[in-house]
Amino acid sequence: MVQGAEAKMKGSASESVKVVVRCRPMNEQETAHGYTRVVDMDVDRGVVELRNVKAPETDPRKTFTFDAVYDWNSKQLELYDETFRPLVDSVLCGFNGTIFAYGQTGTGKTYTMEGIRDDPDQRGVIPNSFEHIFDHIARSINQQYLIRASYLEIYQEEIRDLLGKDQKKRLELKERPDTGVYVRDLQQFVCKSVNEIQHVMTVGNQNRAVGATNMNLHSSRSHAIFIITIECSEIDDKGKNHIRVGKLNLVDLAGSERQSKTGTVGERLKEATKINLSLSALGNVISALVDGKSTHIPYRDSKLTRLLQDSLGGNSKTIMVANIGPASYNYDETITTLRYANRAKNIQNKPKVNEDPKDAILKEYQQELARLKAQLSQKGVKKKKKKKATDEGEEEEEEEEEEDADSEALLQQERELEVEKDRILNDQHMIEEEKERYLTEIKHKEAEMVAAKDAQEKLLNRIKTMESKLLCGGKNIIDHTNEQQRALQQRKQEILEQKKREREMLQLLEKEEESSCEIASTFSSLQAEVEAKTRKLKKLFAKLQSVKQEMADLHEEFCRDRVDLQHTQNVLTRELKLKALIIENFISPEEKRKILSRAYFDEDEDVWKVRPVVRQTSGGTLKRPVSSASRRPTSEYAKMQASVDHNPRYKGENIMVVELDPAVRTTRDWEGPVVAPRVSAALEAALRPLDEDLNIDASLATLNHSQAVKSTRKTKGKFKSGLRPPTQLPDSSMYPKSRGLVPK
Ligand code: ADP
Ligand code: MG
Repeated sequence: MVQGAEAKMKGSASESVKVVVRCRPMNEQETAHGYTRVVDMDVDRGVVELRNVKAPETDPRKTFTFDAVYDWNSKQLELYDETFRPLVDSVLCGFNGTIFAYGQTGTGKTYTMEGIRDDPDQRGVIPNSFEHIFDHIARSINQQYLIRASYLEIYQEEIRDLLGKDQKKRLELKERPDTGVYVRDLQQFVCKSVNEIQHVMTVGNQNRAVGATNMNLHSSRSHAIFIITIECSEIDDKGKNHIRVGKLNLVDLAGSERQSKTGTVGERLKEATKINLSLSALGNVISALVDGKSTHIPYRDSKLTRLLQDSLGGNSKTIMVANIGPASYNYDETITTLRYANRAKNIQNKPKVNEDPKDAILKEYQQELARLKAQLSQKGVKKKKKKKATDEGEEEEEEEEEEDADSEALLQQERELEVEKDRILNDQHMIEEEKERYLTEIKHKEAEMVAAKDAQEKLLNRIKTMESKLLCGGKNIIDHTNEQQRALQQRKQEILEQKKREREMLQLLEKEEESSCEIASTFSSLQAEVEAKTRKLKKLFAKLQSVKQEMADLHEEFCRDRVDLQHTQNVLTRELKLKALIIENFISPEEKRKILSRAYFDEDEDVWKVRPVVRQTSGGTLKRPVSSASRRPTSEYAKMQASVDHNPRYKGENIMVVELDPAVRTTRDWEGPVVAPRVSAALEAALRPLDEDLNIDASLATLNHSQAVKSTRKTKGKFKSGLRPPTQLPDSSMYPKSRGLVPK
């Protein structure tokens, strides 16, 4: 920004809201249907004329004058350079700025604000402002910038953060005496380049579409606000650091068309009334601001007006773009939009540069950076180099050298440790234990060094990330080109200023002409005088007629509004009656009284809430209430019956006394297998214990080898031969006899 212009801006005390009108071209459908164009625009004079095709030809046209008008041939860049660039420049200097797009759905609000991103010629205000802001920063000298972006949406009087992680969360508006109204917990993203801020916007737009089943319908009923906060720090001649903060609100409002309320109930009706609430509150605020009589401005009536309080009659420079359609069937909406815009022209704002605010993030960043750098220099080993800095540039240079020195020293230390280790390992005279001790010590030192290195690296990284967020100009681009570009921009701006002044002069001239030029003229004859006066009379009469017409129109519009409101009221009353009916008939008076005593209205969130029940715990721990005698209230008869009879009907509990049912047996006793009598006898014999002595008569064996040895048992029972064959015992002669010790 040029210093002179900046100074001029700082000095401005009060200025009105700028209003420009933009008319889109006829679309294909309109041409196909053969609608005629009823809008005429005089771009040089800033005048819009409107023809009513339904009214007789003789009726005068409706004429409105604005700060600038843009017809169907207007280009996005032309609009930006002429109207929005100066405002964004002001924001870069520390003013607050707001751009509203107002108008019926389908007239080009989104086209004006966002446009078509991929086509550089059709980009809207928002992308163009991104380019502008980052270009400005790149060309700045000795300034540091911090850019943050937020994106929110107001739908059905609920605020949604389009950049938030949880898209179901609704945000609240809060107020602080120093900074005013703000959205609590609204995400802000630091952006370092055009690409980054564009990405933020893309993400927001995607989130906006996610919640909506029909994006067109949704966008025509919700307000989207993109907020760019620009913080700039600059060191003045005396070496003092100044921070200026400018906030740019870019608002794409909901469609201004009348919501058709006939037949809408439930959710749809709720939606229609709520949207009208925000937009009509905006209209009411504008009316209250310009009528000069109102002492109370109803900002609190809607979220939108509360959030943009500063933009309307406060500390902000504001531009309203009123978008209209050219076709005849839009006549009513177009004229309403133009009237609305015409009123907004008279709002007076008091913009001022926001210098050194308490909550500047940039300041926090700078302080944190200074702290980190100090920490880093403390961490580093003793510096060998000490150089006296004379100016900023050299200081930076020295810092870098210091950083280098730090890592150099660490390396040196590492090398020394390595050498020491080698020496110990190769030392033959040292005893093993001592060696071990030294080596552990060295290991410790090494670990410490690694930790120190790590910490230093982390610190350096942190400093680098923080520094990268702070943007400075004049780094990559050659200063000479910068200078030229700046001059070019300035020249362009001057031309545009000139154009604007011409338009203003023309408008002024017209006014003057009407009132004074004829009075000053002298008349040569009576006839001439009569003629002149008749002309004047005719002119005044025409004016009177147009004013009368305007009054009739306004009255008609007012009546229409009233009928609409009455209709809404009727539907709401009917709903209320239904609720009352339900409450009266189905909710006990006691419950109703309790709920009423606990209900309260939350002004901030604009809803009724019910206070939680507070228990009175003064009498110690609470016990369950019990009946005095028995567990349940019972009659005497029942008690008597219970004592004599077991009928469960008279029992305190619903427990029946029943006998246990023995379960049916599912197993059998074990029965051994059936064995034939012979087998069992043999088994018995075999299993009999052999406890008797066995007498063997071996005398016969010597006589007859072949004779079986007869053995007898002192038997208890009979031996059944055939089962076990008699044991063949060897003849005693079979064994050699001992011969004693025989000499060999
Ligand atoms: P709104 O946001 O007011 O509902 P849009 O911005 O979506 O309206 O515009 C509706 C259509 O008209 C879009 O297709 C858009 O491209 C087109 N349009 C609007 N204004 C212009 C213009 N000045 N020049 C060309 N096309 C336009
Ligand atoms: Mg839109």
